[in-house]
Amino acid sequence: MKFKEFCEYLKSIEETTSRLEMAELLRGLFHLVDSDEVDKVAYLTTGEILPAFRGVEFGLSEKLIMEALSKACGLKVSQIETIYKKLGDLGEVAEQIISWQGKALSLSQVYGELLGIAQTRGTLDKVMKLISLLKGLSGFEARYAVRIILGRLRLGVGDATILDALALMAGGKELKQDIERAYNLCSDLGLVAKSLKEGGMEALKSFGVKVGYPIRMALAERVASAEEIVRRLGRCAVEVKYDGFRLQVHKEGQRIEIYSRNLERMTEMFPEIKASILKEVKVHSLILEGEALAVNEETGEFYPFQITIQRKRKYGVQEYAKEFPLKLFCFDLLYLDGEDYTPKPFIERRRRLEEVVPKGEHLDHSELFITESIREIEEFFENAITRGLEGIMAKRLDAPYTAGSRNFNWIKLKRSYRGALADTIDVVILGYYYGRGARAKLGIGGVLVGVYEPSADTFKTISKVGSGFTEREWVELREMLDRIKLTHRHPRVDSLLEPDVWVEPKFVITVNADEITRSPMHTAGRTIEEPGYALRFPRAVSFIREDKRAEDANTVEDIVRLYNLQKKVSVE
Ligand code: AMP
Repeated sequence: MKFKEFCEYLKSIEETTSRLEMAELLRGLFHLVDSDEVDKVAYLTTGEILPAFRGVEFGLSEKLIMEALSKACGLKVSQIETIYKKLGDLGEVAEQIISWQGKALSLSQVYGELLGIAQTRGTLDKVMKLISLLKGLSGFEARYAVRIILGRLRLGVGDATILDALALMAGGKELKQDIERAYNLCSDLGLVAKSLKEGGMEALKSFGVKVGYPIRMALAERVASAEEIVRRLGRCAVEVKYDGFRLQVHKEGQRIEIYSRNLERMTEMFPEIKASILKEVKVHSLILEGEALAVNEETGEFYPFQITIQRKRKYGVQEYAKEFPLKLFCFDLLYLDGEDYTPKPFIERRRRLEEVVPKGEHLDHSELFITESIREIEEFFENAITRGLEGIMAKRLDAPYTAGSRNFNWIKLKRSYRGALADTIDVVILGYYYGRGARAKLGIGGVLVGVYEPSADTFKTISKVGSGFTEREWVELREMLDRIKLTHRHPRVDSLLEPDVWVEPKFVITVNADEITRSPMHTAGRTIEEPGYALRFPRAVSFIREDKRAEDANTVEDIVRLYNLQKKVSVE
């Protein structure tokens, strides 16, 4: 396919206001391209150049792109800046100032050039490569190439949208489950698309875990009491819930990779864990999961999360690793020497984990005991809280590892749900309001936020949030939102309200609220007969959560469950 034709698809996707039409356009696109191109389409339409876990980024700022445009077009940088101020989008700037026709490059050629830019180390070399690419593109094509490099394609196509489109291409929506299963095991949309195109559904059905491809992590449901744990699981494993980073470690011979909860590659951040695995784990290959925490070497006590979080850094890694060494509390084994462990029962995975991972300075097993006694669970919970831990995790003994899904195989009981109203809620910003009075000068008075509805792959509104940020944060937030603003409601957003500015559903914030109420104004949980759910007195308790994607926000189902928990608590 020619890159120009691909860009025409991008333009149609950008202009659509319907989620169904978006999936249909993507289906058409996947159908049309061949198996060498289909992976590239999957990456580019989701705003990536390779899956996030490969850790490849363009690393070109707006300023450098303006320099490249200036050299390619023979305009002064200051002239380009003036046009940029007017248009607000460097893609449109490129389109306006490029007057040549381009070389009618293919999608694969342009992708290759883009990847080359991303993989080149030196800034100057990157800029030179970009200049040469720009000279081969028409203005229309450059508009999209520039947006891709800046990570501002703004299509808002999510993983689930791609999986839907692939299922449609392969024959129907009912195929999505198998396609999704393959994706949950490898986290690589391009690989899934390519395997499907080359080997059909058979290839996807025989898909297994691979070292070097992070498995989408299993998540826990929450309940309000030990009694509910026993009611749901019966005899179960109960573990301490550590408050650190969830890490997935992959080992193949001497090669180690470490991935975060949202599947970013973080190997270089945790040198002591890498070294311990290499030295102490004797098997050839494995994939394990655990929670890493900073532990005080003198006292053996856990540091608070605020200290542990400082280990998420690109610079000063060695110094911090010395000052705040981490310990990885391993709790699951997903692969061992050629064998996929994800279908095996939890207790078998755990036993094997204890056999192959020895305890050491930086490695340990999560604390665990097996019980069916409500009283014992309650005591364990109280004890964990007194030790400053978050709570406990209960696990179904015979459950497989359910990649990429949140269900009652794992159940968390945290301090905050006991007696108190509700936990914090992660919501996605869908748009903003200009603000009145004192806020008008900041140009933003509040944001419209929503939660995720996985069955429809859409975001449903739940609240307006107007407090919790400092003035500086509001200003920064507005700048960040302006970079992803849209001219119309995003096709994956379902809303009865109309903010002053719509944005791509991208940024997650954590909010606190007094209560969840029913409201006819919001679409979360709304049906023909019933009103939706809303947050009463919401306030932001975090700035943008860089560790979460829009789809990682809480779901409508979570909200319904919290609403019901809240009712129970108030009756008690
Ligand atoms: P939450 O982030 O509140 O949904 O809780 C689930 C998270 O708890 C997991 O993603 C892990 O990062 C963390 N966690 C802490 N201890 C454990 C444990 N023993 N087993 C599983 N997950 C744990």
